Amino acid sequence: MKTRLLTGHDIPAAAAILREGGLLGIPTETVYGLGADGLNAEAVRHIFEAKGRPQDNPLILHIPNASWLSRYCHDVPASAYALAERFWPGPLTMILPRREIVPDAVTCGLDTVGVRCPDHPVTLEIIRAAAVPVAAPSGNRSGRPSPTCARHMLEDMEDRIDAIVDGGPCGVGVESTIIDLTVTPPRLLRPGGLPLEELEEVLGEITVDKAVLSPLAAGEKPRAPGMKYRHYAPKAPVTVVTGPGEGTARYIRERAGEHTGVICFDEFAEAFPNCVVEPIGSYADKAEQARRVFEALRAFDGTAVTAIYAQCPGDAGLGLAVANRLKKAAGFQIVDIGEDGI
Ligand code: AMP
Ligand code: MG
Repeated sequence: MKTRLLTGHDIPAAAAILREGGLLGIPTETVYGLGADGLNAEAVRHIFEAKGRPQDNPLILHIPNASWLSRYCHDVPASAYALAERFWPGPLTMILPRREIVPDAVTCGLDTVGVRCPDHPVTLEIIRAAAVPVAAPSGNRSGRPSPTCARHMLEDMEDRIDAIVDGGPCGVGVESTIIDLTVTPPRLLRPGGLPLEELEEVLGEITVDKAVLSPLAAGEKPRAPGMKYRHYAPKAPVTVVTGPGEGTARYIRERAGEHTGVICFDEFAEAFPNCVVEPIGSYADKAEQARRVFEALRAFDGTAVTAIYAQCPGDAGLGLAVANRLKKAAGFQIVDIGEDGI
């Protein structure tokens, strides 16, 4: 099929694609999503085919506001409404007990479902016009970096889906934060566009799932099935270097050559002569790093780079999500040079 490019003026055409069981690229504030009618199991199965997504990796349902929660979830706790009130529309996905109406194709047979309200006016209008919840994972081919603009999504999905709605570049740039509200204390399954610290202000104590910070042992299962897959990976292998900026820059420079790709903070953009350098924002600006990290990971494909090093932010605020995406791209190949450097 020929993939059409639509704009925010084409809401009726976009909604019709969803209602007719088609596949639609949707802009959100986090990353572009690959959407289908979340109540149509056949359409949802096509998402897995188009992405090459493993069959055990469930999708998130996108809804226009918190009043739709009770249509698809039961035993919704007061904390879910408190979170929605404060953070929706926004980059927060809640895991809740699922109602029967949600097809197994969405949840991969789990008895829970992930739900979120995206903060993008065009996509909210499309969902309202289609009058169905939209099941959507990120709009990349499985294993590739998530798309943060319509062009990146077209690179991965051209001729595999009906249309992509171009809603401009994504303002947040990393996927939603996923919080499991079916357990006590609530559990962070994936760090994302909403910092953990802001969730703690509403929920109090939160457990961080092990898969967020470290690789899993063989056979170990994360609570968010998607966290077990190598993800976001450019074709060349990535090594993440953690520690202070000066020290990590020195470590990388000593090992870098002509065919080395470097993801670095803006302050160090000139520090790697002869390398292919992708700056992702200044050391202190984690929001900018989040917006640019996936584009940087994509940029090395199609170059002669054979190895990539990445400077890595600390875990506070949005740093937890940026660091997680870099470490997953690296398959958790991490060098920690320590506080004083090597
Ligand atoms: P993506 O939309 O590509 O960002 O992927 C969605 C993420 O949400 C994946 O990591 C899934 O494993 C996770 N997810 C979706 N539904 C559930 C659920 N019911 N329980 C736990 N994790 C979920
Ligand atoms: Mg994804």
